[in-house]
Amino acid sequence: TRLFEPERTNSNGYDLRHRPTLAAIDAKRDAFRTHRWRGGPLMACNPSEGPVGTVTNPADLTDTVGEIRLATPEDVARAAQAAQPWQADAKDRARLLGAAADLLEANHGEIFALLHREAGKTLPDAVAELREAVDFLRYYGQRATEGLGGEPLGTVACISPWNFPLAIFIGQIAAALAAGNAVLAKPAEQTPLIAHRAVELLHAAGIPHTALQLLTGGGDIGAALGATPQVAGVAFTGSTQTAQAIHRNMARHLAPGAPLVAETGGLNAMIVDSTALPEQAVQAIVESAFQSAGQRCSALRCLYVQEDIAREFLTMLTGAMDTLTLGDPWLTQTDAGPVIDTEAAQAILDHVERARSDGRLIHSLPAPTRGHFVPPSLIRVAGIADLEREIFGPVLHVATFRARDLDAVIDAVNATGYGLTFGLMTRIDDRVQHVTERVEAGNLYVNRNQIGAIVGSQPFGGEGLSGTGPKAGGPHYLDRFRARPTAPVAA
Ligand code: GLU
Repeated sequence: TRLFEPERTNSNGYDLRHRPTLAAIDAKRDAFRTHRWRGGPLMACNPSEGPVGTVTNPADLTDTVGEIRLATPEDVARAAQAAQPWQADAKDRARLLGAAADLLEANHGEIFALLHREAGKTLPDAVAELREAVDFLRYYGQRATEGLGGEPLGTVACISPWNFPLAIFIGQIAAALAAGNAVLAKPAEQTPLIAHRAVELLHAAGIPHTALQLLTGGGDIGAALGATPQVAGVAFTGSTQTAQAIHRNMARHLAPGAPLVAETGGLNAMIVDSTALPEQAVQAIVESAFQSAGQRCSALRCLYVQEDIAREFLTMLTGAMDTLTLGDPWLTQTDAGPVIDTEAAQAILDHVERARSDGRLIHSLPAPTRGHFVPPSLIRVAGIADLEREIFGPVLHVATFRARDLDAVIDAVNATGYGLTFGLMTRIDDRVQHVTERVEAGNLYVNRNQIGAIVGSQPFGGEGLSGTGPKAGGPHYLDRFRARPTAPVAA
């Protein structure tokens, strides 16, 4: 039986949205409330005896989630030697990727427990994340059967982030595999256990060990991958700086032209004008800024409210913030969980404290002290140029604007150099048209929240400092995982 029942189908007949019942979830995840996982590299040859680390629950530092063995740089070299592009034809690849999706769904209780306890994900976030992962597997598998140009690149390194430890981890792997490559996957060092479990399930579905190997570890393993000559392409999601470092590494060590597909950071803005429906805007803002404790690269960082409505609007917004429940991600009433680790919490808290001492903190909630919690906060700024960098947490910056300065606001947003998501709340059609034409952002959302792009119907990805494209979950993503055949030389 399937956890997710199809709710809507797009024109390709592909199921886009699914909704599980809470009873179905609860029965299965409870078995993993205190489970301890063990993970490590999964290779086509034997891994070395690398060091072992412990993973703790970011919401409760007394809860040990499990133990993880780390790969060594020698393991990277040996895995690269053992890797073999996936020989099965596109139809068989799609079938096995589909079988992997089914297995992930069937194990949803364990997956949710891992998402709660290793990554601090709330139940709605965990449900959406599993859904996104299975959507990637099915969507890319289907795309591959529709005919791809060129040939597989060979071996692709997939380096993924902790904020979507299942969805993005699986999305990169599914794309590279659907395109017929071998994959060397390095999950974020904060979330290796869910990656380990997911790869076990992909292997159980029949994906060969030579086609998919897992290399657990930190930056040294990522750096080794970017410098391994057999690697013919890299998929990376994470910070802009790390993407730049990987790119330099690739230029030095890999064959010329090896592609880097990078999804990086954002400094995302939303404009709320005086014609917007305030209740709708407030809800969309709370979701965009505080859901997932703001740990999405799509999250809203800088809100521009038209001056004429700002006072009342901010009263509504702080009122809505007060209704948020912060706490244990396992509990169904929790709206926002912890941030990922001490370092993240400290950087965000420092930012909030600086705003408090400068008199710019408009509102902040009390936060639990047991784990890495930071208070959802609202900070006044003159404009987006005041944000020196992406604060990857539940912190929203607010500026006001005069109607006649709308274009200056758009210029300031474009001038950040990032271009990931953008939100617009207005009931003026011409304004939608105008802003849509002028804003440089990969994903532009009108009169709704600006997070949670859906595979197959809302391809996700940015421009400028936010990424290289092509967009994940879109029809062109697989193309970058294929090599164009060399053009015949004219006689
Ligand atoms: N795809 C996610 C969204 O639309 C964001 C991915 C990320 O944070 O890297 O919210």
